[in-house]
This record gives sequence, structure tokens and C-alpha cells, in this order.
Amino acid sequence: MAHNIVILTGAGISAESGLATFRGPDGLWEGHRVEDVCTPEALARDPATVHRFYDARRANLANVGPNAAHRALARLDATWPGELLIVTQNVDDLHERAGAERLIHIHGRLLGALCAACGERREWTGPMGGRLDCPSCSDPALRPDIVFFGEMPYAMDAIDRAIARCDLFVSIGTSGAVYPAAGFVRSAKYQGARTLELNLEPSEGSMFFDETRTGPASVLVPEWVETLLA
Ligand SMILES: [Zn+2]
Repeated sequence: MAHNIVILTGAGISAESGLATFRGPDGLWEGHRVEDVCTPEALARDPATVHRFYDARRANLANVGPNAAHRALARLDATWPGELLIVTQNVDDLHERAGAERLIHIHGRLLGALCAACGERREWTGPMGGRLDCPSCSDPALRPDIVFFGEMPYAMDAIDRAIARCDLFVSIGTSGAVYPAAGFVRSAKYQGARTLELNLEPSEGSMFFDETRTGPASVLVPEWVETLLA
């Protein structure tokens, strides 16, 4: 019986809500090469394009909502008596809107603004392009609070601590093969946790999991939560 649970979620859980996966079958994210919209170099070279891209992603959140997988995880979060941490690679707010609270956005959030000058973070719901002055320091250094390629993912220390204490690690809708996800499952396994993968198809990282269940997250996750809470 598990007491402490760490859950990693990826693009697969949001795809069923209609959000494009980070790298689609064409290798693009909403028609853009990630190198053109998701690197510090792109932001420095062409801030207008980068802001236009994230402004569109941010605005599109209004057109989507959490699905059964997000809701099941929020229910688990609300009722699970042991420790629990949801670590999401997604930059949307669907876990929050479903009601999840024990949540870390390892790659940042579309609904966050970060001042590259003074480091202040704030909620941001409208467009950011064309209005880049930081309200705190007035430096024109406001950027989406998104972890770009080459930047350090957030809250790694807190995640490492949670993984060290967990006895069940679950990966949902993510390949599990790409760092840092691959590092999480290996670390959890090495430290004695059971490891479970819920994914649309067996991933490259499947070998690291004790068990892999394949199917849509909106089906598998509610089933798994139901069993856990029974
Ligand atoms: Zn500032």
C-alpha cells in the first residue's frame, strides 16, 4: 500500500483537452520550431515573435478545460492522506482549474510573467507583447515565466526530496525517456518506489517502470485513482 506518491504529468494529459503537444508529429509546436520560440536566444533576437506565440497560447487556454484525468488527480490530491506531489511538465493551468493544489510546474506557466531584471514573478492573463515594462522595476525585461531550452527546470530540490520519500511514482502522458522525466523514474526506482506508467503507448522509457498501462489518460487515470481510493 502506497503512502507517499509522486505523479509526473506531460503533454499527453492535456492533449485530450485539445492542447497541442509540445512537439507534434511534424516536430513543430503550433507550427513553430521550438528553437524559434522556446530559447533565450530567440527571445533576445526576436521578442515580438516569441511574445506573439505565448500570447496566443495564453489566450487559447480560455478555449479548453480540464478533462477526466485532471479531475481524477485533483480528487486524489484532495483526499489522499499521505504525501502527494503532482509534477507537471505542462505550462497550461488545467491541473489548477480541476482543483489540484499540491502541484509544481517544472517548466513554468503560461499564466505567469517573470522579470528577467529583478526576478519578480506575477500572474499574467492578458497579452504580454507590446507591454514589456516590469511593473516593479520598470525595466523592459518582462518575459513569459516559461523554462526555455537550456534553462534550469524549476523546483528540482523539492522534487528530489519528494521522490526520495515516495513509495509510488506514476508517470502520466509523457514519454519518460527525456530528461528530467527519465531521471525521476530512475531515482524513484533506485530509492525503492514502485513505478507505474500510464501512457497512450509504451514509451522509450517503459523499461524503467515496474508496470505500464496503455490507453487514453482520461480513461486510465480515473480507473487508477478509483482503485487507489477504494
Ligand atoms: Zn522587474
